[in-house]
Amino acid sequence: MLKRKNHRMTRQRAVILEVLKKVKTHPGADEIFEMARKRLPRISLGTVYRNLEVLSELREIQKFEHIGTLKRFDGTPESHYHVRCVKCGRLDDVPFEIEANLEKKVTPHTNYSIIGHRLEFIGFCPECAKSPLNKMLIKQNYNPQFERISNGKQKTGRSRSFVPRMRTCV
Ligand SMILES: [Zn+2]
Ligand SMILES: [Zn+2]
Repeated sequence: MLKRKNHRMTRQRAVILEVLKKVKTHPGADEIFEMARKRLPRISLGTVYRNLEVLSELREIQKFEHIGTLKRFDGTPESHYHVRCVKCGRLDDVPFEIEANLEKKVTPHTNYSIIGHRLEFIGFCPECAKSPLNKMLIKQNYNPQFERISNGKQKTGRSRSFVPRMRTCV
């Protein structure tokens, strides 16, 4: 009985991994659930959640978490850079070579044992960039992240070169 259950778990996990690896969109759990369901009609959303957590712990996939946005998953475990839309949360890969020496450069500036780095660019995706309001924000060099940092725990000041002129309700 236990063996059968384990086997089923493995099969479910394999299907989740497979459907995730097929797409480049960095989907959320709900979307992965919809894709997996076509192959395994009896799979539950909870099972998908659990397996995604396990797979990211096993480093088979990557997990992205941002305050106030959907948790997203990436079927490519190897390091690569991303660009994220600040309006709709869309996340895409950036085909740009990884900065191999960045860890070494950063190490003297921290007491952490650095094991890697993640770099994310932010902006407006092609769809969101079309709206007149967003066009205006882009012109104004709008950056919601600076606002979040300045209101939160990080107060670097030095690296903050831009003071936002617009307030957002995210
Ligand atoms: Zn967008
Ligand atoms: Zn990616």
